[in-house]
Amino acid sequence: MASRRQFIKKTSTGLMGIPLVYSTMDLYAKDNIYDGPVLKVAIMGLGSYAARVAKAMDDCKKAKITGLISGTPSKIEKWKSEYEVESKNCYNYENFDAIKDNPDIDAVYIITPNGLHAEQAVRVAKAGKHVICEKPMGVNAKEGQQMVDACKNAGVKLLIGYRMHFEANTLEIVRMRKANEFGKIIFFQGQSGFIIGDPNQWRLDLKLSGGGAMMDIGIYSINGARYMIGEEPLWVTAQETKNDPVKFKEGIDETIQFQMGFPGGAVASCLSTYAVNHLDRFYLNGIDGFAEMQPSTGYGPIKARTHKGELSFKHIAHQTVQMDEMAGIILEGKEPSIPVNGEEGVKDMKIIDAIFKAAKTGQKVLLN
Ligand code: NAD
Repeated sequence: MASRRQFIKKTSTGLMGIPLVYSTMDLYAKDNIYDGPVLKVAIMGLGSYAARVAKAMDDCKKAKITGLISGTPSKIEKWKSEYEVESKNCYNYENFDAIKDNPDIDAVYIITPNGLHAEQAVRVAKAGKHVICEKPMGVNAKEGQQMVDACKNAGVKLLIGYRMHFEANTLEIVRMRKANEFGKIIFFQGQSGFIIGDPNQWRLDLKLSGGGAMMDIGIYSINGARYMIGEEPLWVTAQETKNDPVKFKEGIDETIQFQMGFPGGAVASCLSTYAVNHLDRFYLNGIDGFAEMQPSTGYGPIKARTHKGELSFKHIAHQTVQMDEMAGIILEGKEPSIPVNGEEGVKDMKIIDAIFKAAKTGQKVLLN
């Protein structure tokens, strides 16, 4: 069992650069008083995940909610009083371009349906504000690239809400892999799924979601395979199963199994589904050892063990750590050990595009 102190000691001596998250973990030490810069964030889309993020941000030291963007006035009223946001910092989807003149907002966190992300991110960038956008960043790689280009042209940062990139157990396994503690990596298994409820929700509407389980939850196995193995895949193959074609219409995947081949010879075998509950498991296998995480990407606590024993890092709400880390990236130019920038998001979108093509054609699809 590794204590947090052992973890910090081990990693700070064992790596070239100390992963950003360790400094953030110290942020939450009881005796720590933070008096540095604070990122002023407007939340766009006041739905269920936004509510989770907002609650977690109560414990942030480096980030604070200062603005709200919503199409529902009653939600604005409720959130305004709950998070002490001034009326002059509240907008709707028609008038939010005016944030460009608002010094109370540094960044906008887009937490709306996937199909709206690209257009909203481009507008936020044009208003000169940093963009934090939920996963998937858009509905395909083309949209993702448009977002990257818009932010680059506007000179603002684009960060994707990959909360697991700051999670302590995840980072320790990535550290062990980098330190060759598993030996040559041979195999990764990713299983991501839950049973989707209401058939009328936007997640099952192609225009708003861009796809089914893959866009929503399968993306965790794709992203996880990449950071666990530490390479970019060369090819994908995929097989789709659909048992409920009424609920899961054309373009909305219910279940896809997919495989990815990596340059070092490792293979990933993954399952993405809206038809099975409690499916949240990563398994990384090398010649000399293994890591297993279950749950691996849920809201936590994450449970992880390796061939050396169990990991037991203190659970801190992922969204608290994520937003403090993102504040460090935006305000202090810090570099996270697993990237969360727009380019990282585009890599996942390219793989999703290829998986959809492979599932449709039955062919192996090569990634450049
Ligand atoms: P949700 O349905 O609970 O909330 C979506 C919000 O967008 C609602 O407030 C809704 O009113 C608003 N909205 C604006 N325009 C809309 C339109 N045209 N149609 C429908 N809703 C519209 O969804 P959610 O679960 O909060 O998901 C939002 C985003 O967050 C998605 O991109 C999702 O993938 C992502 N998400 C990420 C995580 C994570 O762990 N990182 C978890 C859940 C959701």
